[in-house]
Amino acid sequence: MSGSNETGARDLGRREFLLASAGAAAISASALEPTLGQTTSTSSLPTVTLGKTGEKATVLGMGTSWSLQPSFVQAALKAGVRYIDTSENYENTLAEKVLGDVLERTGMRKDVYLVTKNGRGKVGGAGAHAAYEKRLTGSLDRLKTDYIDCYYLHGIEGREIGLLKDPDVKAAFEKLKKSGKIKFCGFSCHDRRLPEIVTAAAECGWIDQIMIQYNYRTMLGDDIRRALDAARKANLGLVAMKTQGGAGGFREVKPSGKFQEFVDKGFKKEQAAIKTVLAEGLMQVVVSEMTNRDMLRENMAACMAPKLSLREQEQLEQHRQATAHLYCHGCGQHCEPAAGGVQVAEILRYLRYDEVYGKTSRARELYRALPESARVTDALNLSAAEAACPHGLPVAALIDRASLRLG
Ligand code: SF4
Repeated sequence: MSGSNETGARDLGRREFLLASAGAAAISASALEPTLGQTTSTSSLPTVTLGKTGEKATVLGMGTSWSLQPSFVQAALKAGVRYIDTSENYENTLAEKVLGDVLERTGMRKDVYLVTKNGRGKVGGAGAHAAYEKRLTGSLDRLKTDYIDCYYLHGIEGREIGLLKDPDVKAAFEKLKKSGKIKFCGFSCHDRRLPEIVTAAAECGWIDQIMIQYNYRTMLGDDIRRALDAARKANLGLVAMKTQGGAGGFREVKPSGKFQEFVDKGFKKEQAAIKTVLAEGLMQVVVSEMTNRDMLRENMAACMAPKLSLREQEQLEQHRQATAHLYCHGCGQHCEPAAGGVQVAEILRYLRYDEVYGKTSRARELYRALPESARVTDALNLSAAEAACPHGLPVAALIDRASLRLG
């Protein structure tokens, strides 16, 4: 990964390419207060056309992998958010149920671009259609709708790349499209083979949009930029997730002098992280895990004025450099061959869920679902894995910490 921020600066002018409109209007607290049963947008969040889907959506999408509160969903709708990302996996299907209730009560199903994902049963071959239709039927029931705007394979991994090239999977999704139960097809991904997977999506001919991990730390890598170039040429809808890159801070690093100044002026690192992704002009929607109204308000403000000043770019770059040795990029191909079977990238992702996003129970659940051999043992020597990490992460200490906090 390049450490330069020149690319971001060079590309700032491209934001107009994607943003249909942008305003820096302040968002009042009253605009976020829902009135039960009557939800009218009170904001002018910028909208975008999502690649070859041709559909319009707001550049800010609502992530739902937490114990979603109906009043918060309604507040987001009232504030103007028109893109919702969920999954049958989130809160063991509860997120879909909450969304279904709110969309039915408010009568706003047709006003939002709704994405859900099949979390289980990602299969290829002759049984593909039956398997995907079964999972989809459950989601449609819970979401109380007769169609999904875009149906995803959830968290596609490198070892599943063959699914994108499998004619039975392609036929299965095309059949679901023809039935009217889904309008478009896609997947989410934060796997270490992300560039390869994105390239396959651009080439396979049946994927309409993708949602990938993308933030100010990962966006400058040559391999992901080449893959995204292919995706853009294929006119895929491009959605970013995990845009924070740990912007909110790591407990080892206190805000630097400049960052403290940033914060003193009322500017949030979290907002800078979103602005960085949108200002680059490649990603069309940012899906953000907003869990309270302050976050909603801040994210909306960031989306309405996505351009970063040079000073803001410098400050974010300082933060990136100061914390680069603490943020796991998920590139397990470097460290895992020397880790004796321990799934370093997965474990450090769960540790981030716990420590940065405060999702301790989800992190524990995921950690404990890993096979014993993929987790830490006291006797394990991770010094070789640590030496192999190009970002200088203290792998052994972090894996130990994950074991203590999540095991
Ligand atoms: S520990 Fe280092 S090499 Fe391993 S996945 Fe994380 S950033 Fe990549």
